[in-house]
Amino acid sequence: MSAESKKAHNFIQSLIEDAVTKGEHTQQVVTRFPPEPNGYLHVGHAKSICLNFGIAETFAGACNLRFDDTNPEKESQEYIDAIKKDVEWLGYTWAGNVRYASDYFDALYSFAEELIEKGKAYVCALSAEDMAEYRGSLKEPGRNSPYRDRSAEESLKLFRDMRDGKYQNGELVLRAKIDMASPNMNLRDPILYRIRYAEHHQTGNKWCIYPMYDFTHPISDAMEGITHSLCTLEFEDHRPLYDWVLDNITAPCQPRQIEFARLNLNYTITSKRKLKRLVDEHMVDGWDDPRMPTISGMRRRGYTPESVRTFCDMVGVNKAGGTVDMGMLEFAIREDLNTRAPRAMCVMRPLKVTITNYPADKTETLILPVHPQNPAMGQREVPWSQTLYIDREDFVEEVPRKWKRLAPDQAVRLRGGYVITCKEVVRDASGEIVELRCEYDPATLGVNPEGYKPNGVIHWVSESSSVGCDINLYDRLFNHESPDSDKEGDLVDHLNPHSLEVLKGARVERSLATPLTDLPYQFEREGYFFCDQELTAAAGKPVFNRTVTLRDSWAK
Ligand code: ATP
Ligand code: MG
Repeated sequence: MSAESKKAHNFIQSLIEDAVTKGEHTQQVVTRFPPEPNGYLHVGHAKSICLNFGIAETFAGACNLRFDDTNPEKESQEYIDAIKKDVEWLGYTWAGNVRYASDYFDALYSFAEELIEKGKAYVCALSAEDMAEYRGSLKEPGRNSPYRDRSAEESLKLFRDMRDGKYQNGELVLRAKIDMASPNMNLRDPILYRIRYAEHHQTGNKWCIYPMYDFTHPISDAMEGITHSLCTLEFEDHRPLYDWVLDNITAPCQPRQIEFARLNLNYTITSKRKLKRLVDEHMVDGWDDPRMPTISGMRRRGYTPESVRTFCDMVGVNKAGGTVDMGMLEFAIREDLNTRAPRAMCVMRPLKVTITNYPADKTETLILPVHPQNPAMGQREVPWSQTLYIDREDFVEEVPRKWKRLAPDQAVRLRGGYVITCKEVVRDASGEIVELRCEYDPATLGVNPEGYKPNGVIHWVSESSSVGCDINLYDRLFNHESPDSDKEGDLVDHLNPHSLEVLKGARVERSLATPLTDLPYQFEREGYFFCDQELTAAAGKPVFNRTVTLRDSWAK
């Protein structure tokens, strides 16, 4: 059992290593990733996935995928399928079959009866309001329920009647009998089971009572032989209950719960409930909208699994909560794509350029590298002819200081091609510039003649050999650093109105007529762009999503 050296150590890894070294931990390490199938996974879940599967990998152990499915009304098969796909896409393989907490409903039910028989649980008929009132507060101890001392026989009968459908939603609950005066509110006789007449996506209508998370989770862990149950910090206060449940039943084993800090990212939200609201209220185009911090959204935007895993490594695992800068996630994808993404030229807002001294019937095929630092990626053919397009934003008539692009009577190199000089600006009736008439210098293909220096390098495509495409320029979904902090009003008020700009009529070089679907391109001088397969099929021409710009434009 040796730790993988290239990955950063985290405190959980050190703690397990320590136990292994001292001989305190001798079994195989078994972890689990336990999502509730009530939404799509987000970048916070990616951290938990990398941690759980990473620990299993490090110690040659196993990691289970378990759906924590005890709230049938909020869950669905759609979410289960999406979650499985996301975990696989991140590059992880769960041990054996997918598991469900609902696989253990029979066992959970028996353990509940065991607690009742031992006098450790009772059926309570207090209304929800009364129960809250009896529970006390952080400052005041609670009071015992009047049903707390009913006999085990009576509770057992009532519990069976609950199961058999003899009571309505909310009429009765099963509660643990722990301590109504405990300073830890979670130990004030927490609910273990409640009545819910709801069809379950796995068990259909078999059950009308469903176990609570705090009862289900430790038992599911124990049933699967989980050795380390890693969860986020908000469960720290639940740990005594986790242990209480396992201490008071004939548990198959005693997993250890260890908490770590949630991942929070600025300029976005990491809560399935709030993300669902954006989807339900059509503020985004579905769970996989490329602006969403969901794994499916990041995938559609062009994030690679490697970049998401690198990001999770960079973030690390610790006990201290905090917020990570979105710039770090963007850095991770930029670094990954810089070394791997094929280069191409795409003109976003085409402006026609006619090379007046170039023959109308001639075409030259220029050969450019697919990647400037990686010859193994090969070469691409980029035809040059009389009519070309450059970006509207690469031309001005009034030249600002340090202008490194085209202007009247200024010379600029077209990337990989010739140097051209603008001789004439053509306008339409409304005064808008519709064409530039330029001259090229035949001696400048790939070289600058002695004493000659063009004013910069810009990208271009030729009219006859480029392909029309649409571009989705995505930016951050929110323009506020912490859009869901309650003090700052409603998160909808912080949606960035410029999070999507659609450019119709862009033109991309011919080699991208059928774009790669597994990796984004670097469009020179513009950023990284990933072909959206769904939108491409619908549009009948390539549609590219901007993954990330070349530089961080948000950094202050
Ligand atoms: P949400 O509030 O988004 O629904 P959750 O914690 O309720 O999150 P679960 O489906 O229960 O979602 O989470 C599955 C696992 O992922 C849990 O172990 C949980 O602790 C972990 N997890 C969820 N959100 C984060 C996060 N932001 N950072 C790290 N781990 C997370
Ligand atoms: Mg949850």
